Amino acid sequence: MANYVKTLAIVGGGAAGLAAAVRAGECARERGYALEIVVYESDERVGRSILATGNGRCNFSNSHIDVREYYNAEFVGDAFDALGATSGYSPVHAFFAGLGLAWREETDGRQYPLANKASVVVDVLRAAAAELGVREECNMHVSMIDPPHEPGKPFTLQMRDGLFQRADAVIVACGGRAVAALEAHDMERLRTRPVLGPIKVAPDDIPFARELDNIRVKCAVTLARKQGVVYSRIMTESGELMFRKYGVSGICVFNLSRFAWPGDVLRIDFQQVGGAAQAEDLLMERRRALAPIYSGELTYEQLLRGLLLPRVSEAILKGAEIDPASEFKPFEAGPLARLLTAYPLEVAGIADPDISQVRRGGFAVETFDPATMAARKIDGFYAAGEALDVDGPCGGYNLHWAWASGLLAARSAVEWLARR
Ligand SMILES: Cc1cc2nc3c(=O)[nH]c(=O)nc-3n(C[C@H](O)[C@H](O)[C@H](O)COP(=O)(O)OP(=O)(O)OC[C@H]3O[C@@H](n4cnc5c(N)ncnc54)[C@H](O)[C@@H]3O)c2cc1C
Repeated sequence: MANYVKTLAIVGGGAAGLAAAVRAGECARERGYALEIVVYESDERVGRSILATGNGRCNFSNSHIDVREYYNAEFVGDAFDALGATSGYSPVHAFFAGLGLAWREETDGRQYPLANKASVVVDVLRAAAAELGVREECNMHVSMIDPPHEPGKPFTLQMRDGLFQRADAVIVACGGRAVAALEAHDMERLRTRPVLGPIKVAPDDIPFARELDNIRVKCAVTLARKQGVVYSRIMTESGELMFRKYGVSGICVFNLSRFAWPGDVLRIDFQQVGGAAQAEDLLMERRRALAPIYSGELTYEQLLRGLLLPRVSEAILKGAEIDPASEFKPFEAGPLARLLTAYPLEVAGIADPDISQVRRGGFAVETFDPATMAARKIDGFYAAGEALDVDGPCGGYNLHWAWASGLLAARSAVEWLARR
């Protein structure tokens, strides 16, 4: 079988799949190794998932990736080490620079294409893939992957329409949503759940959220969980929060959603002055400062005017059943300060799974080797991107993982095929 050209099948033409296709083509070309590379994509075109990212601008990476921020961080760290450097100018950046992509950096190290359009990222990937002879097979939904029944035989890929295809190695890069439905013989999969999305609050807190629908505030939000009789802080995120009819949204909320469970509490700090004691001092200071302007005793409404958006102070007072026109008494500064620095909203869950950015779950990382992205049990079977149980916060972390794991899986798959 001297002329037998081996085939690498990539299931999914999204971020990880396209990066893998290009890298596989590069590795095969470098080695002078004839390899057929096919991307099977269920959609009518590849790269559509990338177009939606970063509000159409594609926050494709981050210059300050902190590996500890990833779920299953140890696995991710080992994979990054296997690929090369972790942060700064990583192999992911070298890969995109090699494809001709120019980018700019915005706050917190977030990187976007200089052209400010996600389509440019898809363009450079597709152009390179075409140049390297990668075949795109669109409208091809892979429903089952059957591993070789004896060594040296190929994998069988069954399509939803009943067609069968053969491949000598497979990289599964179908994303988090699809991986659960894919039949992949004997491969342990964890149930997937949406993370990195807006949070729905409990029915009792809906009126507060509804009152503020579409209002944006700069604040700090703490996620707290009941442990015994007290609530313990899980984590705090600062940034812009947007109220919605169902609850809260915004990047800081998305990041908290990765750790939030129904029954947890979000505590909104509208003041960010260091805590309730400092906020109490501030209220008393305002009372003194405003006294010469307002004759008579100060009302709650007068005290809070200029401190918060009127709709926000109204909603907070309404939530606490305080009449804004009632007199503000010094002994009430403490309770009010606590409301302004830790307004509680109970978590009911992710608001809409369809607008969450990532799925947690998928292939258990223990069943893959982070040095190669190869399945421990099945030779020639690789996974990349969200198909694995890895996710990160907003800011380019998830795409960075998709590219990095795609590059690593492709390099390993080509080396493995060439050795056989
Ligand atoms: C609205 C939105 C905005 C986002 N913005 C950002 C951002 O700015 N920065 C960031 O880092 N992350 C962002 N993310 C997350 C990021 O897009 C994903 O983590 C990343 O795309 C995952 O890459 P992937 O290749 O694993 O999966 P995907 O990119 O989802 O690709 C999977 C591909 O597989 C195809 N497919 C699925 N099932 C099958 C099947 N059975 N057979 C064949 N093909 C199949 C799909 O059609 C798709 O093309 C965003 C996500 C969303 C939803």
